[in-house]
Amino acid sequence: MAEIYYDDDADLSIIQGRHVAVIGYGSQGHAHALNLRDSGVDVRIGLAEGSTSRAKAEAEGLRVLSVADAVEEADVIMILTPDQVQRTVYAESIQPHLTAGDALFFAHGFNIRFGYISAPEGVDVAMVAPKGPGHTVRREFEAGRGVPALIAVEKDSSGNAEALALSYAKAIGGTRAGVIKTTFTEETETDLFGEQAVLCGGVSQLVQYGFETLTEAGYKPEIAYFEVLHELKLIVDLMIEGGIAKQRWSVSDTAEYGDYVSGPRVIDPHVKENMKAVLSDIQDGTFAKRFIDDQDKGGPEFKELRAKGEAHPIEATGRELRQLFSWIKSNDDYTEGQVSR
Ligand code: NDP
Ligand code: MG
Ligand code: MG
Repeated sequence: MAEIYYDDDADLSIIQGRHVAVIGYGSQGHAHALNLRDSGVDVRIGLAEGSTSRAKAEAEGLRVLSVADAVEEADVIMILTPDQVQRTVYAESIQPHLTAGDALFFAHGFNIRFGYISAPEGVDVAMVAPKGPGHTVRREFEAGRGVPALIAVEKDSSGNAEALALSYAKAIGGTRAGVIKTTFTEETETDLFGEQAVLCGGVSQLVQYGFETLTEAGYKPEIAYFEVLHELKLIVDLMIEGGIAKQRWSVSDTAEYGDYVSGPRVIDPHVKENMKAVLSDIQDGTFAKRFIDDQDKGGPEFKELRAKGEAHPIEATGRELRQLFSWIKSNDDYTEGQVSR
């Protein structure tokens, strides 16, 4: 059983004695920066020239500097720009300003695991990865709770990198919920696999196929939407509370029996073979290379796939229905139906 660390296992004063630069002020960046500040940590934000996030950070009273100046001032640098731009930001504006004794932090191991970033001698390399979207990390912290997090140490130059990572995790609320120790390799590969095979890729495709099957058979799209998308949250909530077993206990016997006999027909053993192939592409760097090569060209494949997903009929049905649901409020940073971002 993995060891889980809580507030009592972490010393907040360690991070309170450091100077932190949060690079990027997006989903994770705003949450880390605000939680750190509210935990009494000295924090500044590093952003590129002309950044659209600058105004948001300044509206919270945070100091915003260029990435280079923020790194220069700080001795803990948390990189929270999108994964695909990290290596350029790092090479141009971070690495030249690192000195021995600094610590380089990440919230995802991608760039270290696949060799896009490597830190100079004398610098600690560690990860504090909240297992939730940034907006939840902030909201839970403000409510006095936290989102579970993973920590990992890639390079322990100081001999204190783990204690520093735990302290950082405490400052953003992670140890309120529980922190598990992992490695950059394990976090990166399992995170990519989970989002590709199950959470994002698997679920999205499953929902789309379910919607297509029902509407192609002549059922109303609104009804199909409720049956294959809207109710998903209710099912997932039960799984989070008590595992698959609680979900099966709560649904009708009819639904539970249908689960047993039809689940393995839909998700048959080929799917597991496909999952193994996806995992293999993650492990040998094929996925990382495909993603980064496309991003380096401006993301033509990414943009095409995004547009195709947004054009799926389930999105139009959902948009109309959700306008009728006064109880569903969309996230501030997300505008429904946007095609260009
Ligand atoms: P976002 O896409 O939300 O971050 C965007 C931020 O990065 C913006 O402030 C943006 O500025 C800034 N930025 C973009 N390009 C540059 C640049 N060249 N130089 C400086 N700043 C730049 O990222 P996420 O928060 O989603 O991801 C950050 C990290 O956290 C990633 O490693 C990700 O894997 C990890 N992570 C993310 C999670 C999430 O909830 N999204 C969950 C757990 C980990 P501007 O507004 O000007 O574009
Ligand atoms: Mg991920
Ligand atoms: Mg039903």
